[in-house]
Amino acid sequence: MRERIENTLMELIKFKSTANNIKELKGVVDYVEDNLRLTGLTLRRFEKNYKPSLLVTTRDTLKPKILFVGHLDVVDAKDEDFVPRLEGNRIYGRGSIDMKGSCAVMMELAKELAAEKYRGDVGFLFTTDEEVGSKDGVQYLVEDVGVGGEFVIIPDGGHGFQLIVEGKGVLHLKIVAKGRSVHGSRVFEGENALDKLFNIYNELLTRFPKEPCGDPEHWHNTINLGKVVGGDSVNRVPDYAEMYLDIRFVPPYKVSDIESMVKETISKYPRVDYEVLSSGEPVFTDRNSPFILRFKKIAEEVLKKKVNFAREHGATDGRFFSVKGMQVLITAPYGENVHGDNEWVDVVSLVQLFEIFRRFVQKEQ
Ligand SMILES: [Zn+2]
Repeated sequence: MRERIENTLMELIKFKSTANNIKELKGVVDYVEDNLRLTGLTLRRFEKNYKPSLLVTTRDTLKPKILFVGHLDVVDAKDEDFVPRLEGNRIYGRGSIDMKGSCAVMMELAKELAAEKYRGDVGFLFTTDEEVGSKDGVQYLVEDVGVGGEFVIIPDGGHGFQLIVEGKGVLHLKIVAKGRSVHGSRVFEGENALDKLFNIYNELLTRFPKEPCGDPEHWHNTINLGKVVGGDSVNRVPDYAEMYLDIRFVPPYKVSDIESMVKETISKYPRVDYEVLSSGEPVFTDRNSPFILRFKKIAEEVLKKKVNFAREHGATDGRFFSVKGMQVLITAPYGENVHGDNEWVDVVSLVQLFEIFRRFVQKEQ
């Protein structure tokens, strides 16, 4: 199996499947489809805004009991990063750990299940726009097409087999304040737009824990003022200003709770408005659910060591499934340098990932 996973992964790395390279995105999905066509599994191809996706299922359904989710797109890289390199137990190349390695495991598992005449209800979803927000991939498929699963496994997060069942939500906002411009010597006759934003920001800050917070995991809501625009001269009262906020929040908070909080604060100031630039609900799966406990037990058997739960500060594709009440588990093989130079994945850990997945789905027949 090791050799099969290695070969498949090296083929996947050769595709320069970056966000704007429509031809290569199509090419890499064609490759997966061609590879799995003869298995007799049900293959469904989707496309939105030139972003292709492929759903492979053991039964004829959009919602298998267990759904594995992977993305075949990668972030930009130098030409040489698309030439895979096997050195010892490592395969180097763009996308090796994020996450063509895990996609190779998913492909080989699909073939294995087909060969074994597997009778359970399992699916594999491959998308091509995760690195740019998943709007035309997972979001479209879950919200508009109805793709899902009772239990969704995303091998794209956490360090080396950590089990991630909780992830923070995100809300990106632009807040715009209007004022009245007068000379800087006569501020009493004007209305300072920047002042309003700073007051709002200071008031919002009181709703978030201050650092040092005492929690080594920082499992709490955070706010970042990322950008401020406004004013043009030292002796003028600005009549327009905008600020950009990046708010991250833990379950059970929802996007609507955070938005209400911002709305309430803003409403105290005249002529201030806001716009949601993007948002995502947090991920929450009960770590004592039977699915999670069984996965953990199998992972510990295969790895011959304890695996730990962890929490994810950044947003993942898990948010689209979790908000619909599906159970989500995020994990990953060993590897380093995600989005950087010399990205690699440990091949032994890919074989272990395969074995964990195989044993896990075997029990679901
Ligand atoms: Zn903290």
